[in-house]
Amino acid sequence: MNEMPAKATYDRETVDAWSRCVASFREARRWRWRALSIAAAAAPLPALLGLIAALPYLPAVGFLLLATAALTRFGHAAQLTCPHCGLVPAGAFERLPLHELDYCRHCHFWLVDPRRGVAPR
Ligand SMILES: [Zn+2]
Repeated sequence: MNEMPAKATYDRETVDAWSRCVASFREARRWRWRALSIAAAAAPLPALLGLIAALPYLPAVGFLLLATAALTRFGHAAQLTCPHCGLVPAGAFERLPLHELDYCRHCHFWLVDPRRGVAPR
């Protein structure tokens, strides 16, 4: 993880815009989790019903479901951009959980209110 800059800039509009982006992203992600849950529950049915051979099918579907879950879990790293500079706030090789993104690594603007302490989950 990058070190915190000595001084980050607090801008209320940036914090509010980030909060709105995170809220809409979480709402969209909630629907993705629901769809993924339904897909995970329905995926083994063709093999269980004998419609398709289980051995190549189940590992392939399992891998696809895991990859989709990973993209859903860490997709914010590529989809949410900083309201101030427009870049992805996390570094290129960082895959931080969304609640751990508290400032932009590029422009050093706060994304959450630093006086509130921990970012809302
Ligand atoms: Zn930024």
